Amino acid sequence: MTGATALERVSAAAGRTMRALTLIADRKIELIDVLAPPPPGPGEVQIGIKAIGLNHIDVWGWRGMAFVKRKLPLVVGVEAAGEISALGPDVTSCKVGDRVVAYGALTCGVCKACREGRDNLCENVGSIMGFHVDGFARDLVNMPARLVVPIPAGVSFRDAACAPVAFGTVQHMLFDNAKLEPGETILVQAGGSGIGSTAIKMAKAIGATVIATVGDDAKAEKAKALGADHVINYKTDRFETVVRKLTGKKGVDVAFEHVGPDTFNGSLLCLKRGGRLVTCGSTSGQSITMNLFQLYLQQYRIFGSFGCSMRNIREALAKMAAGLSPVIDTEVPLAEFERGLNRLESRQVFGKIIVMF
Ligand SMILES: [Zn+2]
Repeated sequence: MTGATALERVSAAAGRTMRALTLIADRKIELIDVLAPPPPGPGEVQIGIKAIGLNHIDVWGWRGMAFVKRKLPLVVGVEAAGEISALGPDVTSCKVGDRVVAYGALTCGVCKACREGRDNLCENVGSIMGFHVDGFARDLVNMPARLVVPIPAGVSFRDAACAPVAFGTVQHMLFDNAKLEPGETILVQAGGSGIGSTAIKMAKAIGATVIATVGDDAKAEKAKALGADHVINYKTDRFETVVRKLTGKKGVDVAFEHVGPDTFNGSLLCLKRGGRLVTCGSTSGQSITMNLFQLYLQQYRIFGSFGCSMRNIREALAKMAAGLSPVIDTEVPLAEFERGLNRLESRQVFGKIIVMF
């Protein structure tokens, strides 16, 4: 022990540090240095994060949610792609250098739902990373190896970062819940959002007819370019009236919802008898009143959908590998994470915002 200064001894004792985007207080996120994680333990891998996708859940978390149990400071980021940098002593399912995305809900892996592959219905689910507990917006993350999914060749980190939440959620909504089929007609609300743009592309890819709503004419052009058959500017036209006209008064088979009170009852009105409404969000508020006569007389089926299974993430990545790429609005560097959140909150986006490490 010769020559080491006091400062060097402190930093050696503290261990290696890394960058982490950390929520310090409501609406206050800072890029700070924190301790790097220890080597991964049994059953764990360490991932070097390369890209994270922003979602409305980040905006909710950023604004602060009174009812959410969490402790600040909190490392943000709910979906990410990266590269495995170290393995726990017993891990054989992957190797250093593998490109992966991670499932961000800490499921138990042993309950009936987990065993059946319905991960998002886990009976003992712990926390959502980046929301309740530290998330992915840091250089290194230790994860259970069973929660990582390999990225197929040819899919970039940037695109893969959209798989765990945006693509996985839409895959689960359209195909597990609403059971959308080729030849059916779907109404996609807010078609310019990250999940709305994904829904347009996934529905077109199987041969559905897509009617999308958007909030301005520039977004209408972009939604058309993605393949939407009809696009309605909901600010200038009543979408319920236009949908009735477009479907010869029949209505659509499926309504894809995530806007909430502003559009929910209108989306129900657009359904044909026996139609399915699937929702994964409510960005315009929490509550509505609903006509129950209409609900049962029209035999509507309404699906609440949150997250997805690990299988859905694999399916989403396979679709990306086959050419169905996410619509990227903006890439921002790590230090400008908050600019991304502001942009997402302003609803000026078309597609996903990605933060690159
Ligand atoms: Zn479970």
